[in-house]
Amino acid sequence: MAAKRDYYEILELEKDATEDEIKKSFRKLARKYHPDKNPDNPEAEKKFKEMQEAYAILSNPEERRKYDMFGHNRPDGSPFGPGGFQGVNISFDEIFGGGFDSIFSQFFGSSQRRNNEGLDLLYHHSVPFISAMNGSDEEIEIDVKKKCISCDGNGSNSIDDSRICPSCDGYGQIEKISMIGPFTQRTRQECPSCAGSGRMITNPCKDCNGDGRLNQRVKVKFSIQPGINSGTRLRIKGQGESPTRNQGSSGDLFVEIEVKQHKWFERDGADLIMALPLSFTDLALGKKISIPHIDGKNLVITIPPNSKPGETITISSRGLPIPMKSSVRGSVIVVLKLDMPGKFSSSMKKKLKLISKDLDLELSPLESRIEEESKRRRKN
Ligand SMILES: [Zn+2]
Ligand SMILES: [Zn+2]
Repeated sequence: MAAKRDYYEILELEKDATEDEIKKSFRKLARKYHPDKNPDNPEAEKKFKEMQEAYAILSNPEERRKYDMFGHNRPDGSPFGPGGFQGVNISFDEIFGGGFDSIFSQFFGSSQRRNNEGLDLLYHHSVPFISAMNGSDEEIEIDVKKKCISCDGNGSNSIDDSRICPSCDGYGQIEKISMIGPFTQRTRQECPSCAGSGRMITNPCKDCNGDGRLNQRVKVKFSIQPGINSGTRLRIKGQGESPTRNQGSSGDLFVEIEVKQHKWFERDGADLIMALPLSFTDLALGKKISIPHIDGKNLVITIPPNSKPGETITISSRGLPIPMKSSVRGSVIVVLKLDMPGKFSSSMKKKLKLISKDLDLELSPLESRIEEESKRRRKN
């Protein structure tokens, strides 16, 4: 599947486009790609649907803000529900009569999440490689909308600074009657005038302008479990945005962990893979070497005599802990490589020439060597 295109790119907009520019650009592109203008053109149809989706998000300030923060990867899933965006039948008249706004505004109205609920946040945090070995306690500072202290999140300082909402008579909910075929359906929904609080603020708090929240820098602590992988998202409940005017619950904070690379190890789950470049004689004669290791004890690698480049040595239980069962550890896998000096001195060349003849005698004839080699390769 092709990567999802950026909504701004689809609508040919800059990131800071105004609402007016968004609308204008949508109209311009809709004129070009509308199915009525492009009958039997699946490419145009696809483009039209794509721009509808982009417009649905970017024309809705709350959805746009989430998109700017998370991109297509929102922690709470697609705003259009599990099936993703399905497209809408929108006529030319609607596009140029201006009625298309109301079509798009319906998309998110039905979502269970209330508008004034605090948003979930996503934060990227990188930890050194050693955290994957030992785990670690982390502390981050984030800028987040949190309850305004001056008004205790109410948006105004006292009950006298607000009056009962005339739309819902202070109930915070209104009843909607809709017709479904011959049936009438009554549904209760949050009052849009007062965002469900039942009161309209007449004298808003000076600090937060009646929102009940202020941008604040807060410290968040969490711990990294041994064996953690890059890309793991930790969910820290209630540490996201505070709700508007105490109406609802706080969002969650997601922290996506990036484990920084080790100087020489590559990871395969809990196994650590490294390449070990050795000289020809070390491979031929064998050797025992000892190097510092991330678990604090030296790693001793025993290279048996007559080793070949590409062969591996597995040292069990010296890899990373397996998440959730930190007493079990993966292996270190050492891949042997042949290392050659950049150039040989003339005295070295003389010595090499001497052993070269002897070596040829030890090896089987060239053609059968080539054949043996291909047999081995094909077996793997
Ligand atoms: Zn306030
Ligand atoms: Zn109301």
